[in-house]
Amino acid sequence: MITRRLALPLAGILTGSSILLVPPPAAASSVERASPVEQAEKKPVAEGYGGAVATVDLDASKAALEVLRRGGNAMDAAVAAAATLGVTEPYSAGLAGGGFIVYYDARRKKVHTIDGRETAPRAMTATSLEGIPFDQAVTSGLSAGVPGSVAQWELALRRFGTISLRQALKPAIEVASRGFTVDQTFYDQTAANVARFKDFTSTAKLYLPGGAPPPVGSTFRNPELADTYRQLGKRGGDWLYGGQLGSEVVATVKSPPVTPGSTRNVRPGLMELSDLKAYRALERPPTMMTYKGMDVYGMAPPSSGGSTVGEALNILEALPKIGVHEYLEASRLSFADRNKYVGDIPGVPLKELLSDGFAKERACMIGERAMAHPAAPGNPDGTYEPCQATPGGQSTETAAEGPETTHLVVTDRWGDVVAYNITIESTGGNGIVVPGRGFLLNNELTDFTAGPAPGDPNLPGPGKRPRSSMAPTIVLDEGRPLLALGSPGGSTIITTVLQILVNRWDLGMPLPDALAAPRATQRNTAQTQAEQGFLDRYGAELTLRGHSFALSPEIGAATAVEFLPGGQLQAVAEPGRRGGGSALVMSEHR
Ligand code: GLU
Repeated sequence: MITRRLALPLAGILTGSSILLVPPPAAASSVERASPVEQAEKKPVAEGYGGAVATVDLDASKAALEVLRRGGNAMDAAVAAAATLGVTEPYSAGLAGGGFIVYYDARRKKVHTIDGRETAPRAMTATSLEGIPFDQAVTSGLSAGVPGSVAQWELALRRFGTISLRQALKPAIEVASRGFTVDQTFYDQTAANVARFKDFTSTAKLYLPGGAPPPVGSTFRNPELADTYRQLGKRGGDWLYGGQLGSEVVATVKSPPVTPGSTRNVRPGLMELSDLKAYRALERPPTMMTYKGMDVYGMAPPSSGGSTVGEALNILEALPKIGVHEYLEASRLSFADRNKYVGDIPGVPLKELLSDGFAKERACMIGERAMAHPAAPGNPDGTYEPCQATPGGQSTETAAEGPETTHLVVTDRWGDVVAYNITIESTGGNGIVVPGRGFLLNNELTDFTAGPAPGDPNLPGPGKRPRSSMAPTIVLDEGRPLLALGSPGGSTIITTVLQILVNRWDLGMPLPDALAAPRATQRNTAQTQAEQGFLDRYGAELTLRGHSFALSPEIGAATAVEFLPGGQLQAVAEPGRRGGGSALVMSEHR
């Protein structure tokens, strides 16, 4: 195993272009190492034994660690961390959102996934979002999907956990009651939302105390959310899925508590209590593909994460060399295919999208120069010509998606691993707090293609789940966990996961460097969005090769864990993006 880890990056460098010979970025080498397990400040890297966690937030990482310490397993800890993120990262995660879990069960040596994606109400049709300006759809009752997180937590704990929902919610209740310290990220996210938060009485009351965002350094308490979690733990998910809490969610969606005098056009939603009663979190087979002998497991539809990351890796593997140009081109092609074929519909050609034959056919489109925009989708029909371009029809643009959500990884002493993306879609969801309950509603239904778009697999429909880009990923080597990772960032989630894998395996960066390295994202768009550091390093050379760039201040906020030789764990979060994340290990020593 050790030899393979070392050999892979070297092989990549030796066969690559000059681009590959650039050393890892300077920022990465200054990544701070976490020392004691008990920390007052978040640190992005922790190495040790017996269990590890990485999230965007110290309180959430501590919640997970506390559960592990008390004998809980990775799934118990992941649910505890997710519920805590609902308190401290309430604009990205919460009980009224949704998410995807990829889970490695060490005892059975098997990867499972749990789909907790929100659903459209049964009254929603293909035309329900047509003609509505995107920003109006975002802040509305109409965009709120039937929440999936609570059902997902219950299913995850029942199937793979050892503790009750009530126990799993305890750390979150404590943080919500005693409060957490407002940091710059929380302040900035609140400030960016002031215009709409003030338009809802419930939201303004909670998040704009005294009419303004809570200042950096102040303590933010959410006793109403603490009480909601307490009751949820006592009453169980039925309280939401058909009970009193559900009735309040429906009432808020249908008649949002708009501040008197506000001129905002707030469209009511279509959700009924029967939609909540019908909601189910679902176990689904993971996607799986093999990259250089490693098995990469991901999330199947309704997420496009697993198939798009997997297709791009397959395309890369079919190329004679792998560098940043190839990374961008492989990503461009797999987004063309995702946009045409992937959604919450029957008959997604998953097997073909992830087949080597299709990847080879697609890889032949990649030359020395960037291909013309837009790339047409291919034809994953099972019949492949080596080196023949097979345009399969019109390409659709990659739709705008909110830039926020969150991702966490946890592993326990038994070797179970959780990669978990949880989201309420936009930063601040639909902007509407359920009065007296302390949590925001999601606007996940804006992830549907609004239309008109005949044939688009991601048009809304009754009970349908909007296509996601969330890509929690677990990599096994010879059947054993090697790496787990994921990121927020809407459709850039896919490219961030892909880029980290390429950085790690093909460009030879250690995992902390692979996360810290400057990013670029090509999603079959005319311009590639890129961070300044990426442009400084690769911009000139890639522009000569026909790429065109737009500056993006920040792409993604990843978390990951690598299983090093000798049972050592390396948990990694962002060193800087989104204020940096928190990695913790159970013990620094064996
Ligand atoms: N709604 C997004 C998705 O499911 C995730 C939220 C985000 O990161 O923007 O792909």
